[in-house]
Amino acid sequence: MTGMKSGVVFGDDYKALLAACKGGAYALPAVNVVGTNSVNAVLEAAARNKSDIIVQLSNGGAQFFAGQGMADGNTAKIMGAVAAAQHVHLLAEYYGVCVVLHTDHANRKLLPWIDGLIAKGERYYKANGKPLYTSHMLDLSEEPLEDNLSICADYLKRMVPLDMSLEIELGVTGGEEDGVGHDLDETDNAKLYTQPDEVLRAYEKLSPIGHFSVAASFGNVHGVYKPGNVQLRPEILKGSQDLVSSTHGTGNNPLDLVFHGGSGSEKAKIEEAIGYGVFKMNIDTDTQFAFANAVGGYVDKNPKAFKFQIDPDDDTPYKSKYDPRKWLRAGELGLAERLDEAIRDLRSGGKSLAMN
Ligand SMILES: [Zn+2]
Repeated sequence: MTGMKSGVVFGDDYKALLAACKGGAYALPAVNVVGTNSVNAVLEAAARNKSDIIVQLSNGGAQFFAGQGMADGNTAKIMGAVAAAQHVHLLAEYYGVCVVLHTDHANRKLLPWIDGLIAKGERYYKANGKPLYTSHMLDLSEEPLEDNLSICADYLKRMVPLDMSLEIELGVTGGEEDGVGHDLDETDNAKLYTQPDEVLRAYEKLSPIGHFSVAASFGNVHGVYKPGNVQLRPEILKGSQDLVSSTHGTGNNPLDLVFHGGSGSEKAKIEEAIGYGVFKMNIDTDTQFAFANAVGGYVDKNPKAFKFQIDPDDDTPYKSKYDPRKWLRAGELGLAERLDEAIRDLRSGGKSLAMN
């Protein structure tokens, strides 16, 4: 495998990166970010582990990146995602790893967000010769299969000239990610497991158009629940791979699969899923908790600094403790440490394709 330049990857380099993951039986963490603190912590963990990485924004994460005070929600979601992508484009190469830029779940209601991002992406491509995002995700799993696939086909046609890829969702990931998703209780259990013939239909419809990946459901759920609530069945993924490969005479594991709801999953099931062609595992809940837990630990250790600028009893000044760089940094370190673990689970450490 020849090396690549560090920084944001797209097009043929993205495909080569996925091939390296599947060929080398490892996967990349796709981490949801909400601001420069989380972006930088993700890059820091990727760099120190020499792991390529996926930086991802949900619609709410993008809005938060732009600022909760921005008046128009859709504009904030578009501009926040543009700002986050530009931040990553500017800095990623200095961390010495390959970075994939992705958006997360967009259902029918959120299509205007993706429309806005494609419009911004077209302008960005014209000016810079590269896409703003490596890939977007459409989650039309609530729609009938043929509607899901024909809308995805239309979007993929617009994105191919920008050297972009598209992630689609088949079946249902339980729970919800940022307002998109399903209550566990309301979900028909069969829908938690993607049907191989649906994946085959997606392959036949989309692969002639361009590159796509599939968030397939094998009992995975967003969020972390008490053990026993979720039954992961990675062998479902193998069924889809085998059906496509036997129908179309492709090689082993022809599909590029995505594991949603990676937080809290059993390590053995993660490993099994990687063997069936999963190259991307989304992680949000566990990294959110790691950030919060570390900030909470800092506050517990320095409680007075969060109430007084000067100690009322002994006049100690607390400026050096309440400086946001101290407690936000604690959060960044907590997030990065949780990612060290994800990188170990997914075996992506030491495998960066970036030449530096
Ligand atoms: Zn998801």
